[in-house]
Amino acid sequence: MDDFAGSDVKGKAVISLQGAPWPLDPAGGVFHPYDRAFGKIVQVTVRGGMLLVYVSEEFDSLVEAPPSAEVGVIREYTKIPLAYLPEFQGKSSMAVCPSLAIIPSAFDKILAKVTGGTYAEWKKRLPTKKFKAQTLNASVEIGIETKPQEGKACNVVAMLPGTDSPLKDEWVVLTAHYDHLGFHEAPPGQDGIYNGADDNASGTAAILEIARRLAEAKPRRSLLIVFTSGEEQGLLGSAIYSVHSLMPSAQVVANIKADMVGRSAGKMFGYATGCDELFSRAAEFGKQKGIEVLADPNPSWRLIHFVDSYHFARLNIPYIDFMTEFHKDYHQPSARYDWILCMKGKSVSYVVRQSSTWTRRGPKGYAHGQAYCKSGRRSRGFGIEDVLGLSRPGRRSTDASGSSGE
Ligand SMILES: [Zn+2]
Repeated sequence: MDDFAGSDVKGKAVISLQGAPWPLDPAGGVFHPYDRAFGKIVQVTVRGGMLLVYVSEEFDSLVEAPPSAEVGVIREYTKIPLAYLPEFQGKSSMAVCPSLAIIPSAFDKILAKVTGGTYAEWKKRLPTKKFKAQTLNASVEIGIETKPQEGKACNVVAMLPGTDSPLKDEWVVLTAHYDHLGFHEAPPGQDGIYNGADDNASGTAAILEIARRLAEAKPRRSLLIVFTSGEEQGLLGSAIYSVHSLMPSAQVVANIKADMVGRSAGKMFGYATGCDELFSRAAEFGKQKGIEVLADPNPSWRLIHFVDSYHFARLNIPYIDFMTEFHKDYHQPSARYDWILCMKGKSVSYVVRQSSTWTRRGPKGYAHGQAYCKSGRRSRGFGIEDVLGLSRPGRRSTDASGSSGE
C-alpha cells in the first residue's frame, strides 16, 4: 500500500503521522524505511514536495533516554546548524526538503481544524484501508528565527595528471569528507569531542594512502582527489565542487568514495547504484581479501541523498560509495581511534584502490529529484577497462576516444 499513490505533492507541504500504512514491527526495534521522519522526508523530496510536517508522540518525551533511537538522532541533528550555499538559491544542498517535527498537542492546536480531525482521531483513521491521502485547501507558513553565521571551509584537492594522451583527459575522482561534528559541552570527565575516527578519518586516511600508491604507479588516466568539507552540515563540499568542478563531468569516468571504512569485520557495503559493473568488480576485489562487498540492502531508502556521491550522481557520473557499517558509536564522541580495525582497514582500502583502478563508464539515469537510478542499464558499449590506464600492455583499451595503439 502506498499512501502517495494518486496524489501529487509537487510544490506542496505534506503532513504525516509517524508510522506506515501497514502494521509495524510490534517490538518497534527496527525502523521501516518509511515509517519514520527520514524515509518520509526523502519520499516527499523525490516527489517534488516542499515541506514535511511530521507528527510523532515520541517527541513528547523530554527524558534523558528517548523512547526510540529516532528521537535521539533527531535531537543530535538539531544541534547542527543547517548551512546553505548561495549557489543553491535557498534550497538545501542536500536534496532533502525542509521538515518540521511536531508533537500531537501542537498538531491539535494548529492543524486539527484544517485537517478535520485531532491527532487522536487521525491516528485511528489512518490505518484503515479506506484512507486515501487528501489534498487540503490550506497553506502553511513557517517562520524560523535564525542567527546567521558565515564561515569558511575548504575542500582539499590534489591532481595527478595521467601520462597518456588522450587518456589523461579522462578523470577518476576519489573523495572522502574530512570534516566531522566538532565538539559539545560535556560534564567534567566526559569526552565532548566528536572524534570521528571512523566518520571519516578512516576514509580520509584510506584515500590518502590510495592516492600515494597510485601516484607511484604513474597511471595514464588522470586522478583527482577531493577531500570535502562540510559533509556533516549538508554535503556542502561536494555540492560546491559540483557547481565549480575542475573538469567537465563528461570527462569524469567515476567517483569513488570512502566514508566510514574503519570498522569492517569482514563486510563492506558498496552503494553502487550508479554502476553495476563497478560494484561487481569491487565484490571480486573483496573476495581476494576476504571482504564481502555487499550491495545497498535498502535502495529504496535512497541513502544517496545523504552522501557526497549524490552530487556526482546528479551529474550522471557513475559512483560507488564504500562504507563498512553503522555502529553504536556513529556520530558519538565514543568514535575513537582505538575502535578502528586497522588490519582489516588494509584489505578495505585494497578494495577501494582496486576499484579506483578498474572501472567503466556506467549507465546514465540519475538526476536531481528523479526517481531512483535504473541501475543495470548500460548506456555505453565498452567493457571493463582500466580507468587509470594501469592495464598490462597488450590489453585492448576500450576507451571511447581510442587509446594509444593498445
Ligand atoms: Zn561520514
